[in-house]
Parts: sequence; C-alpha cells; structure tokens
Amino acid sequence: MPTVKITLDSLTAAFEQAGIDDARADARLLVAFALNKQPVFVRMHPDCEIEGDAAEKIETFKRRRLNREPVSKIIGTRGFWRLDFKVTQDVLDPRPDSETLIEEILKRKTDKTAALKILDLGTGSGCLALSLLSEYLNASATGADSSEKALQIARENAAINGLAARFKTVQADWNKDGWSDGFGKFDIVISNPPYVGDNEQLDPEVALYDPKQALFAGADGLDAYRALFPVLGKLLAADGLAVFEFGKGQHEAVKALAEQNGLVFDGFGTDLGGIVRCIALKTAKTA
Ligand code: GLN
Repeated sequence: MPTVKITLDSLTAAFEQAGIDDARADARLLVAFALNKQPVFVRMHPDCEIEGDAAEKIETFKRRRLNREPVSKIIGTRGFWRLDFKVTQDVLDPRPDSETLIEEILKRKTDKTAALKILDLGTGSGCLALSLLSEYLNASATGADSSEKALQIARENAAINGLAARFKTVQADWNKDGWSDGFGKFDIVISNPPYVGDNEQLDPEVALYDPKQALFAGADGLDAYRALFPVLGKLLAADGLAVFEFGKGQHEAVKALAEQNGLVFDGFGTDLGGIVRCIALKTAKTA
C-alpha cells in the first residue's frame, strides 16, 4: 500500500505540472481530508499506509483539483476570519482579501457589546455577516442575496457556527426597483458585491467554480455600486458605517461613485497583498 509520503509526492508533482500554485499545501489538505484527519496528521505520519477506499478518494480529489476545482469546494469548507464556512458552487469562495472589511469595521466600531444592526448585501456563504456576529456579541445581522441557494448555505453556516439566533436572510435583487423597501436602517452595511468586468480574465478556479452572479458586474465591473450607492443613504442609521469591497485599481472610481451619491468617504482599507481592497463610507451629517 502507498504511504502518505509517496502519495503526497505524487499529488504534488501532478499539481505542479498542471501549474497549480501551492501544490504541496493542496496535496496535504486533500490527503488529510481523504483520511478524515487534520492536515497536521499527514505532516507527522509520512509512513502511514493509505488503505483502498482512502486511496480511491484521493484519486477522485486529484482529478477534481486537476480540473481546477478549488480545494475548499472539494472538501466543502473554508476558514474565514475565526470561523469555518460550508462552501458549494452556489457561493463565492470566502477569500482572505475580504477579511480586510472586517478589520476596517472593527477599527471604527469599537464597542463590541453594542446591539448593532448589520446588513450584508450579497451575503453568499454569509462569511462577512457571520464573522461580524462572532465579534459583536449583541449584534444581529440580515444577509441579503438574490440567490435562494446561497441563502440556504448562509443559514446553514449560521447554524454551524452557533449564530442562527442572531442571523436572518432575505431574498432581494438589487437590480429590481424597490428591492430594499421595508429593510429599515442599519448601523453597519457590509458588502462584497460582484466587481469583475465582463471581459476580464479570471483564474479557472474562479471562472469555473464561483457563481457568475457573484463575480461579474458590467463592462467596468462597477454596476453593483451604481445600483447600491443610491439607496445606501436610506439604509444607514445616522451614525451608520458602510464598508464595500472592490477589485484592484477600482478605488478611485468607487469613491467617485459614492460621493456622487452623497456619501461621505471615511477611508480605504488595504489587504495583505498591498491592494486597496475596500472603502468605508458614512452618511452626510444633517445640521
Ligand atoms: N475577488 C474576486 C476575484 O477577483 C472577485 C469577487 C467579487 O467580484 N466580489 O477573484
């Protein structure tokens, strides 16, 4: 029977040959998952022999990864902030870049015990709203999405992380008039909307396995902000804070759109890769 080490070496070589970044790390995660163990196990037990059904699973996982399916979607879960999230093809894979949004909110809303009302626009897996709930222990959040399948996953993630009592979902399509009627006002609005330009090239992991409606937003990728910023003033409480993600190089255009809609710029946030990744916005103070 092949050992863990032999299997890891052969998977790593196959992934490297296919041009997959982090080939060894991916191999380790997939072998560990097939063995029903934590990744640390495969580091510690290179000589462990791999039995038939685990070996079969590994072959299937290898084939899927070579088809550029992300590891998170093969193992069905992805860590984000301090929680684990179930992920499927119906939701955007949570990315470390988006943790920048959580950091920017924590910097500005420092009272962790406040009973904040949070709205997550395009909630997907629920990773942003639920991570905020894990920080603000008396807050409640609404996850809005046009995809009922995504909302189902978000609700499951709330339950998995023990946050269901403070989380609700609402099906809403911001391309339809009146989509936010009856939403009320929020202390925090957070959003990772689609922001990829229609003709932009994406990695196969993204293009093939993330839902298109979570990625693409018109020729310049800015259509979601055009739809959302005009209603943001209505959704924010008097001292409310909105934080929106965007893509590389979009910061000035997003800021200009926000200001055209009467919103007040409160700073950008930069991700760990050094990319300006999100904008903080407030409502204009009325005298
Ligand atoms: N960050 C993603 C990517 O470029 C896009 C996600 C989004 O459009 N919100 O792969």
